[in-house]
Amino acid sequence: MADTYDVIVLGSGPGGYVAAIRAAQLGLKTAIVERELLGGICLNWGCIPTKALLRSAEVFHQMKHAKNYGLSAENITADLDAVVQRSRGVAKQLNQGVTHLMKKNKITVHMGTGKLVAPGKLQVTGEKGTETLEAKHIVIATGARARDLPHAKADGNRVWTYRHAMTPKEMPTKLLVIGSGAIGIEFASFYNDMGVDVTVVEMMDRIVPVEDADVSAFLEKQLTKQGMKIMTSAKTSDMVVGKDSVKVTITDKAGKAEAVEFSHMIVAIGIVPNVENIGLEDLGIEPDKRFHIKTDDYGRTNVKGIWAIGDCVDGPWLAHKASHEGVTAAEAIAQELGNKDVHPHPLDRRNIPGCTYCHPQIASVGMTEAKAKEAGYEVKAGTFPFIGNGKAIALGEPEGFVKTVFDAKTGELLGAHMIGAEVTEMIQGYVVGKTLETTEAELMNTVFPHPTISETMHEATLAAYGRALHM
Ligand SMILES: Cc1cc2nc3c(=O)[nH]c(=O)nc-3n(C[C@H](O)[C@H](O)[C@H](O)COP(=O)(O)OP(=O)(O)OC[C@H]3O[C@@H](n4cnc5c(N)ncnc54)[C@H](O)[C@@H]3O)c2cc1C
Repeated sequence: MADTYDVIVLGSGPGGYVAAIRAAQLGLKTAIVERELLGGICLNWGCIPTKALLRSAEVFHQMKHAKNYGLSAENITADLDAVVQRSRGVAKQLNQGVTHLMKKNKITVHMGTGKLVAPGKLQVTGEKGTETLEAKHIVIATGARARDLPHAKADGNRVWTYRHAMTPKEMPTKLLVIGSGAIGIEFASFYNDMGVDVTVVEMMDRIVPVEDADVSAFLEKQLTKQGMKIMTSAKTSDMVVGKDSVKVTITDKAGKAEAVEFSHMIVAIGIVPNVENIGLEDLGIEPDKRFHIKTDDYGRTNVKGIWAIGDCVDGPWLAHKASHEGVTAAEAIAQELGNKDVHPHPLDRRNIPGCTYCHPQIASVGMTEAKAKEAGYEVKAGTFPFIGNGKAIALGEPEGFVKTVFDAKTGELLGAHMIGAEVTEMIQGYVVGKTLETTEAELMNTVFPHPTISETMHEATLAAYGRALHM
């Protein structure tokens, strides 16, 4: 007889495993199905191992600049294998952590590839053969994978996706990064700090194009100062992938084309959802216009009892967004199964922070100044530079700024945008504020600890109203 559950979650990334934990917390008999590693892309191939690599690059950078702090460090070298090994070790530790969490919450783990064969029925093919599981509800959390260039598929030799870039066997000598979203820029920053000659090519007219235009401009200046070559409004074509190099024609914004040879190339042009071969078409589950699975605000697809969350549904494609959707879906399922005490909370898309861990870091939440104006707001914006902040100067990190965007009529905080040291840790202050529908008045009246870089958040609020104190 088939194993039966209240909920089966297909995919164990930060969407899937969190959904499973919440379902189990609510007393539902829960299973999770995973074909590769518990923890999904985020823990094993995404958020976490990249941050471990970037930490090594940061320490390396600081060691090289030890003199700035009155210290000396000589003959500083990087052991690429050891750097990668540390990153893999961190990923493994977290993967084991998820294994522990599954056990602790009494969630049954089925390792294998899952496919929906009927509403409430999931076939799993793994090392032990094929089994069919049954559940009242199934949550699809199959995530996404790197998008390939059609004419130069990643081979792990010269052309890399993030998986190859995370586990290099050799240090590139001359690296091309195509795409300047968070993933592309983080790898560009890592390799640049490790001493590689890095060129970034971006099709749009600025790097990190989803961020506020001021942040893009500041980052471009900083990365260029660090020795990176940045080409915006640029195109790549005529790629010739050889055994030892890849030759690419780059057309710059003036229309000048040049063939350039690189030792390696990272393709970071976005992701595609994992929606193939999991039985969606046979069950009539509808995609949205970008071929992600279409859902309502709670994760329900158009087929009763089948839910979807995370990178396989609409964006932004971020781990914390996937986890929030996981909790919402689990609670909505519990509610459908009769639990009257849960109150699922759909995601408020205006308040999802985004962080990029390049050097300097970027963090933002809500609308950029341009988007707020486009949306018809009369805007009050304020900017405060890190150079006016005592802690940033003491840390030797005076490059950066915080920008706030308020609705001039109501004082509502519409957006906040930061670049500089530690901003990925600070943004949450604004996210909490936005969730509580804060206005400039509460932020102005909040006491910020001194000395902290977070004081720039206070100052940027004051600056929007012409009241900055240290500028
Ligand atoms: C290099 C990189 C860096 C990133 N950095 C960040 C960051 O700093 N912050 C951030 O918020 N986000 C980051 N992300 C994005 C983040 O990793 C994703 O948004 C997140 O992992 C999505 O979670 P998920 O649960 O939807 O899917 P995933 O994490 O992709 O997990 C899906 C799981 O489903 C499994 N699966 C798929 N199909 C099947 C099947 N048929 N049967 C069984 N199992 C299946 C897969 O093996 C996988 O384990 C990064 C991504 C990358 C690639």
